[in-house]
Amino acid sequence: MEVIIVGAGVIGVATAHFLQQQGCQVRIVDRRPAPGMECSYANGGFYSAGLSAPWSAPGAIRMAVVSQFDKSAAFKWRPDFTWRQITWMMQSLKECRPDRFSINRARLTRMAKYALECLRHIESALPIDYQRSVNGVLQIYREPVPQAMIDGHLRYLETMGIAANFLSRAQVFTLEPALARSTPHLFAGLHVHDDLSGDCQVFTAKLAEAVAARGGVFDWNTTVKQIHVDQSGAARAKIRSIVSQDREFKADAYVFAAGADTPMLLKGLADIPVYPIKGYSVTAPIATEERAPRHSLFDFATKTGMARLGDRMRISGIAEVAGYGTTPDAARSDQLLAAFEGAFPGAIGLQGATSWAGLRPATPDGVPLVSRTACENLYVNTGHGGSGWSMSCGSGKLMADIVTGRPTDIDATDYALLSPLRR
Ligand SMILES: Cc1cc2nc3c(=O)[nH]c(=O)nc-3n(C[C@H](O)[C@H](O)[C@H](O)COP(=O)(O)OP(=O)(O)OC[C@H]3O[C@@H](n4cnc5c(N)ncnc54)[C@H](O)[C@@H]3O)c2cc1C
Repeated sequence: MEVIIVGAGVIGVATAHFLQQQGCQVRIVDRRPAPGMECSYANGGFYSAGLSAPWSAPGAIRMAVVSQFDKSAAFKWRPDFTWRQITWMMQSLKECRPDRFSINRARLTRMAKYALECLRHIESALPIDYQRSVNGVLQIYREPVPQAMIDGHLRYLETMGIAANFLSRAQVFTLEPALARSTPHLFAGLHVHDDLSGDCQVFTAKLAEAVAARGGVFDWNTTVKQIHVDQSGAARAKIRSIVSQDREFKADAYVFAAGADTPMLLKGLADIPVYPIKGYSVTAPIATEERAPRHSLFDFATKTGMARLGDRMRISGIAEVAGYGTTPDAARSDQLLAAFEGAFPGAIGLQGATSWAGLRPATPDGVPLVSRTACENLYVNTGHGGSGWSMSCGSGKLMADIVTGRPTDIDATDYALLSPLRR
């Protein structure tokens, strides 16, 4: 079977890898000159099942309202009064109900846990160095949090089969001695043992190399502009070809993994409820090792990710519902740096720091769409929001199983576009 994948971010490349494993010939088309140049480029680096959760959660509505009055809010909604943004926000609000949140969180965690298995499977066959840290990830709490919240989180992780434990302040300092000096009043921490971190773009590029070495074809600087569809009588619509600025491509099946652009590309063919959520990161070399964190950690108070990527730190966060612009805002980068410096002063070399912003392709419920569509040979793999790296290999494997008609390892209806069971 010949399959064209539109989008060479981490999701498209992981999909290509697993399709190839199942005997398909793959062609990957991307408007950029190399793999992982958009949202997969400089994300937070966390490959985490234990810390992944939908953002449409109880309490998010209050945050959206409060954010109107706070320039530096970690979550910021900038109303642009477009129909796309309004409908997405309305759908997201519904998903903030506690009952919806628990269903969505379980779906997201199941995918991320499965993705860890699929990543290990890739790693056992391919020696990919992507500056991986494997000593788990840590969430730190600077302020006291209710015991019921901690117990609830631990119970949830246990139900999902994720090994984690709660750490007292002293135990956090044993794992992270640098924090003892800078944040002596820290409250506690949560250590998720099997989660890891690594550079998503490096992984994507190396996996793409492996796909190419096995005969996969990559068309760079190629923007898909049109989709030609056969619609004859009562039969289901079927893609005949896709067209770029200068070429026409044909295949048996088409997987769209075009991130935040997927809804526009498929307009009129499939209704994809994905909207961009802008996020920021700063990457800087570690200057003083004994002042730097040993683990990748998430600061619950400032909602900042601090991931070790070899001898660099990746500091990430902020969620802006603000349209499709990707220009980094210097004030936001400074905010991330201030959060990191507050926890690990003097650990990184500020002169070597680089700032970046990207658009997370987010669904209202936070659960990705890994699915067939009403169009016979059209599939989508998108909507991974703030956890796309963490879910990448699981989504790639599930997509490959769906396209080739194999039994799936996890329940595909949870990620389906058309399934009434998804609701
Ligand atoms: C600040 C930030 C921090 C994050 N931190 C984490 C984290 O710690 N852990 C985690 O799991 N996730 C994280 N994420 C989320 C994660 O990065 C995304 O979910 C993931 O990268 C999405 O991958 P993708 O392949 O779907 O999209 P992309 O990487 O955006 O890939 C889509 C591709 O489609 C191509 N494309 C689009 N339109 C066309 C077209 N018309 N023709 C041809 N090609 C096209 C683009 O060029 C692009 O290469 C973070 C995101 C941000 C912004």
